Amino acid sequence: MNAYRASLLWFAPRSEGVARALFEKDGLLVVGPDLQGRQVVQAIGGYSTVSKQYPQVPVQHFPGRIIAPGFVDLHIHYPQIDVIGSPASGLLPWLENYTFPEENRFSAPDHSAQAATFFVAELLRNGVTTALTFATSHPESVNALFAEAQARRMRMITGLVLMDRHAPDFLVNQGQGSVSGTEQSLRDTESLIQRWHGVDRLGYAITPRFAPTSTDAQLRGAGELAKQFGDVWIQSHVAENKDEITWARELFPASRSYLATYDDFGLMRERAIYAHCIHFDDDDRALMRDTGAAAAISPTSNLFLGSGFFDYEGADRVGYQYGLASDVGGGTSFSPFHTMLAAYYVGREGQTKPGLSLTPQHLWWQHTAGAAGALGLDGANGGPAVGNLLPGCEADFVVLNPQATPLLARKTALASNLDELLFSLIVLGDDRLVEKTVISQAL
Ligand SMILES: [Zn+2]
Repeated sequence: MNAYRASLLWFAPRSEGVARALFEKDGLLVVGPDLQGRQVVQAIGGYSTVSKQYPQVPVQHFPGRIIAPGFVDLHIHYPQIDVIGSPASGLLPWLENYTFPEENRFSAPDHSAQAATFFVAELLRNGVTTALTFATSHPESVNALFAEAQARRMRMITGLVLMDRHAPDFLVNQGQGSVSGTEQSLRDTESLIQRWHGVDRLGYAITPRFAPTSTDAQLRGAGELAKQFGDVWIQSHVAENKDEITWARELFPASRSYLATYDDFGLMRERAIYAHCIHFDDDDRALMRDTGAAAAISPTSNLFLGSGFFDYEGADRVGYQYGLASDVGGGTSFSPFHTMLAAYYVGREGQTKPGLSLTPQHLWWQHTAGAAGALGLDGANGGPAVGNLLPGCEADFVVLNPQATPLLARKTALASNLDELLFSLIVLGDDRLVEKTVISQAL
């Protein structure tokens, strides 16, 4: 076992209400193996109390530092690391001119492998320890990312992009011999699930890019796989942009709404994560709630592409799950601090929907325990838990240095309560704040 002495930030259990942060100025975090040998939190609390219960355990001291849960990114594209900051007039031209040509390079295993190495290192450098990630329509891209995440012991969920129409020929799922691209993509999905899902800390996500780039047959096949493999994830995009919605409605006129298209093909259930969810009505929100699906709110991306503003009031009023995501490369930063600040801007906006001031604790929760809950990784039913440091959680955490910049040092020294401290970190923080990221093993 190992113990870490520092200021500690974590969250109250879900049963005690959402988004309540706990903080111990002089705390002790004790980490050790559980019955399966996984490194989990054994105890957390004040140093003077917890240290007496573990007198034999060696203590590493981080004076002036804050230990907090590793961040959970609910939606990111690893083939888009080189697409960040590409100028375009909106979502659809951005896809056509930058994203699709770049994704084509991932048919080469070497390119996928070197991009995966950079991507995982960059996530960890920014304090992200769990991610739900898009690969490309090439199985090579999926294998490369799983292999790299496995080597780094990172909790990674990804899957083959399903896209059998309305994309360049070089990117649609390719057939083999007499087998169509559609059928091959579903066979590849099944064999990738069997190869990777549940291996070490890896999980598979059935990944239709978005409804307009899949035929009915592909969406139907994806829904059948989602039923057959009930504990794999599902990820896609929905209701990001008004042109996209118009297009999706033309292609699937029988569905009540764009979101309902996914439900009609069996793609809404627990562990289904939909990026964006901006342009919803209350029937859509109720469909999210009733199916147990969750939204990956991607505020830097939505601001960058001018897509719109996620309606937090609507989501909470109807009551469905959500968490935060970078959506790199539409998003502009790997840093959870940038994403939390952008979420504050998006919540505050009050011209297109009710504007509200999200609390610092709630913003932080959305990128840690809240996002883990949206993934079903909150320890329910004896399953693994991430995004928090309650006893039993997998011991993924970050060591933050509130003195990382002169302005951070000056501002955080003035904080007179937890909300003031957390908001200073959110507004002024970036990768410089993350001194160390620890993945479920001894330092
Ligand atoms: Zn995306």
